[in-house]
Amino acid sequence: MLNKEFKRKDVERMRNLIKGKSGESSELQVGYTKSQQQHKEGDIWEERGKKWTIKDGIKQTYTKLDEVKKEAILPLFCPCCSNLMKKRNDVKMYNIHKMCFDCVIDMEHKLRVEGKYEEYERAMVSSNAESYLDDLEQYLLEAINESNTQFVSERGEIERWKGGIDSKKFLEEMRSNFIEYRKQINKYKNNIKDD
Ligand SMILES: [Zn+2]
Repeated sequence: MLNKEFKRKDVERMRNLIKGKSGESSELQVGYTKSQQQHKEGDIWEERGKKWTIKDGIKQTYTKLDEVKKEAILPLFCPCCSNLMKKRNDVKMYNIHKMCFDCVIDMEHKLRVEGKYEEYERAMVSSNAESYLDDLEQYLLEAINESNTQFVSERGEIERWKGGIDSKKFLEEMRSNFIEYRKQINKYKNNIKDD
């Protein structure tokens, strides 16, 4: 790959020399076109450690919410029992379990009979909590990156500081809090009791 680039650059340079344009840098040109990546609607790419996308022509960070929205497209029939999914609960259940409400009831009943229900419930609750934490973490990181003069407190109020908050200190605190939250979720998931 690198070899190829070098060769192309060399050829370009030779060409310029022959044409008498030795003062022009062909390298700059190559660098420019390379970094100038073209993205179109719906593309997802990484930049400055974040995932980005273009939605309605506007460049924005790509969050898990977009994935959730995509999942919300409901097929007409349940993939499990092939019945028409028309109840409000079907939408909710399909988004979580990829089956209709009645199928979820059946599945949960089976799990109860087999004595696996508690394990299943713990897994469901923890995965909910985990994805909530992921969203919250991303939201906070974005908020802190965009502005260091305000952020939303635990009670949902917007707090402002004169002169801005100490974002480094806040990030450190946030990281250690999130590590602790995830530890707690894991404990719950694996039914580990505090001693
Ligand atoms: Zn079904």
